[in-house]
Amino acid sequence: MNTLPLFFDLQDKTVLIIGGGEVAMRKASLLERAGARLVVLAEAFNDDVAALGERHTLVQKSYEAADLSRFGALAFIIVATDNHALNVRIHQDAKALGVAVNVVDTPDLCDFIFPAIVDRSPVVIGVSSNGKAPVLARLIRAKIESSLPSGIGALAKKAGEFRAVVKDKLPTINERRHFWERVFGKALNDTKVAALPDELNDFIANDNTKTGEVYIVGAGAGDPDLLTFKALRLMQQADVVLYDALVSDEILDLCRRDSDKIFVGKKRSNHSKSQDEINALLVELAKQGKRVLRLKGGDPFVFGRGGEEMLACQKAGVPYQVVSGITSALAASSYAGIPLTQRGVATSVRFLTGCYQTNEAFDGLKSAYQPDETLVFYMGLHALDKIVASLLSSGLPSDTPIAIVANASLPTQQVLKGTLDDIVAKRHASDISAPAIIIVGKVVDLHQT
Ligand code: SAH
Repeated sequence: MNTLPLFFDLQDKTVLIIGGGEVAMRKASLLERAGARLVVLAEAFNDDVAALGERHTLVQKSYEAADLSRFGALAFIIVATDNHALNVRIHQDAKALGVAVNVVDTPDLCDFIFPAIVDRSPVVIGVSSNGKAPVLARLIRAKIESSLPSGIGALAKKAGEFRAVVKDKLPTINERRHFWERVFGKALNDTKVAALPDELNDFIANDNTKTGEVYIVGAGAGDPDLLTFKALRLMQQADVVLYDALVSDEILDLCRRDSDKIFVGKKRSNHSKSQDEINALLVELAKQGKRVLRLKGGDPFVFGRGGEEMLACQKAGVPYQVVSGITSALAASSYAGIPLTQRGVATSVRFLTGCYQTNEAFDGLKSAYQPDETLVFYMGLHALDKIVASLLSSGLPSDTPIAIVANASLPTQQVLKGTLDDIVAKRHASDISAPAIIIVGKVVDLHQT
């Protein structure tokens, strides 16, 4: 870190500004907003600086070293003359006195720098590139500015007023943290923060902090960029995370650092915990008052057994939320460039499983295949030969295109394309491995390597 960001309390402290032009004025306005008492020293003042004289001290004279000690204790000194040699001299004099100095736009002569500021007081955000890329810092500021809901400053102010009430009502630090995370988490997701303080009052009146909650969350197909904002927000709140084999380390790293992380992964025929055990654990942890995140690959309700977990919560009276994720079929489709529907090619899609709960392989389509339909198989790679045989016996032409998309959306993604006739042989000749989605139908021809 080149410099340490600090937030300086300038109320009733004196800042000396040397220079009376536009640059000096810009700094003076900012410092005035922060509550500083200003002494502006220059040979001449422009109109704006002159107007400052109503509220602050103006001293019209040429600079001499003794000026630095004439105005009592100084918080710091701002130098904004257009005479470089003079700026250097003032910098040296200030150094000799041990007072911090900033020569505007001259990083070499600055003990501290002004960041690009987002001012939603009492929330203040400063961004600095330490003089290396000021435009970048300004663009970052603009980005932060546009992502903050309006009214966030007012919310922070109200929160300050309510701190004591909340502290009274919620005695433990954990309870209070959860409470504020809920209030602010909700606010940050809005574009405009709603009416206050009634909303905060309602929160306090209705807040049931003793019962935990279960979040059944889809983590998407693998690429962390496919997470939803809501998933990320809950990941950063949860006390305990129960995650699957399909959830990558990269995604897991985005969960709250100090949350407990429990692997409950299931791979075919190698279940570290049974579904009943997982359901029971979710309920038990929530009943201890914890916010329990059940983090699942893809979407929780697409071959994800999220439905069973939801029913377990319902049965136990535990509050829960379900957050959709980008299911692997959709990720495989977009990342492999195979649209699942396409005008004139496919008008419907069927999501199927290549493996039933009993671990039996696919045993045929339940209703006749339509030539303008796309079939998508989950959990089918290990039973590819059975799936292909069954589709052929259902009457699909042997030249029907088929693609295997493995590790969809991840850097390790692989796509293997063929027909019902040759895909099994091609698969054996390749090193493609699970997890994989199998797509069958004419849309597969749209895939380009
Ligand atoms: N709920 C998950 C599916 C879980 S079943 C979802 O919505 O995606 C597990 C199957 O999902 C795997 O056998 C595989 O068919 C598929 N799958 C999951 N992640 C995948 C990925 N990144 N690439 C390809 N297939 C994937």
